[in-house]
Amino acid sequence: MLAVFGEEIVKATFVRSLCVGLWLGCAGASNLALAEKSLPQVSAPKPLMQAKQVVPNVYYVQGMSELGSSANQNFISNAGFVVTPAGVVVIDALGSPELARRLLAEIAKVTKKPIHTVVLTHYHADHIYGLQVFKDLGARIVAHGAAREYLTSDTARLRLESSRQELWPWVDEKTRLVPADEWLTGPKVLTVGGVRFDIHPVGPSHTAEDLVVYLPQQKVLFAGDLVFRNRIPFVGQADSRHWIEAMQSLLKFDTRWVVPGHGPISNDAKADMTLTRDYLIYLRESMGRAAKDMEPFESAYASTDWSKFEKMPLFKSANRMNAYNTYLLMEQEAK
Ligand SMILES: [Zn+2]
Repeated sequence: MLAVFGEEIVKATFVRSLCVGLWLGCAGASNLALAEKSLPQVSAPKPLMQAKQVVPNVYYVQGMSELGSSANQNFISNAGFVVTPAGVVVIDALGSPELARRLLAEIAKVTKKPIHTVVLTHYHADHIYGLQVFKDLGARIVAHGAAREYLTSDTARLRLESSRQELWPWVDEKTRLVPADEWLTGPKVLTVGGVRFDIHPVGPSHTAEDLVVYLPQQKVLFAGDLVFRNRIPFVGQADSRHWIEAMQSLLKFDTRWVVPGHGPISNDAKADMTLTRDYLIYLRESMGRAAKDMEPFESAYASTDWSKFEKMPLFKSANRMNAYNTYLLMEQEAK
C-alpha cells in the first residue's frame, strides 16, 4: 500500500500525482486516528542501537532493514561519527529526534567532546529528522546545496506532515526541517582537529544532493544511499544512470571500509556495491525495454523475472514502486 511506502516518499514530480496523491488521500483524519490507536506500540521495546567501531575513533550505528514505523522509531538508516581532538563529526542525523538523542548517548560512551559538525549525505526523511537535536547543541550542519529546493517544497512539507502521523510520537509537531549552515556547491575538504574529511558531491544519483564522505587517513568511505546492503534499494526519483556511474567513481577511492546508508559495513567495496548496481541495471534494462516497446507498465511488471531480488528485505514494499519510477524515467530518457 502506497500510504505505508514509508521511509523516503518519492520526491519526483512525475510520480507525484500517482504516489503522493494516493498517499495524501490516506493521510487525513483517519491516519491520525490510526496513530492514536497505535499508542501501545510506543511501549514496545526500542530498536537496538549500538555504536560499532570501524577503525579507532570512527564509529557507526546500523538501522534496521525495515520501513519506518512508530515501532522502530524510524531507525532504518545508518549514521556515523568520528571523534577528533576538536570535537565530533557526525555523518547523517537519523530518522527522528529520539534516535538522534540515542546516538548522542552512544557518542557520550566514547567521548565527552562536543558535536562539531554534522555532514548530511542527502535530505531524505530517514537521514534528517534527527537534525534539530544536533542543531540545538550548536553543531554546524553541512549539506549539498541541491537540497535547498526540496527543503522548501510542498513535497517536503507534506512528507513531514504525513510522518508526524505514521511515525508518531517519535516524529511529532515539534519535529522540524532544518536547513544546513553551509550549502556546498562542489567538493570540500573539511579538517576538524587534524582529521581530514573529503566531501564529494555524487548527485544526482539516489537524490540530487548526494554526498559521500571519505576519510583518507583512515580509508573509510561513508557512501550514503549510493550503497544499500541487505535490502532492496529505495529508488524514488533517482537518476539511476548517473547513480550507476557514480558508484563506479566510488570504486576509485582507496577504501578499507565502506559504511553504506543502509545495511552493514563492508571491507570489499566492489562486492559492497554489486547489489545496488545490479539492481539498478536490471530495473533500467527491463523497464527500459518495456517503455521502448510502449508495453504498459502493468504487463511489463508482471512478465519481468524478479527472482534474483524477491527474497531480499523490502522487496514487497519497494520493488513495484522502484520499477514504476524507473519505467517513467526510461520513458523520459527515450524522448
Ligand atoms: Zn536512506
